[in-house]
Amino acid sequence: MADLTAAQKQLLQGLFKSPEASCLDCGGYHLRSCPRVKRQAWIGNGNRTEVEYWQSGQYDDSETIYPEDVFDDTESA
Ligand SMILES: [Zn+2]
Repeated sequence: MADLTAAQKQLLQGLFKSPEASCLDCGGYHLRSCPRVKRQAWIGNGNRTEVEYWQSGQYDDSETIYPEDVFDDTESA
């Protein structure tokens, strides 16, 4: 669980309102490549053909922000 200031939360709430902002693989927001992806394969035109994920608990997502980290429970997205 990320420790965020109110200002950071507000900024990230705006980000999560754009569907393309969150990661397709883990549903979070991170600056580096997705920590959940263990292995992936691409074909020439840029389409991904294969993806393998780490199991929950097997990867370090401490730098990933999830929507539930920025939206308060009382407020629905
Ligand atoms: Zn991700």
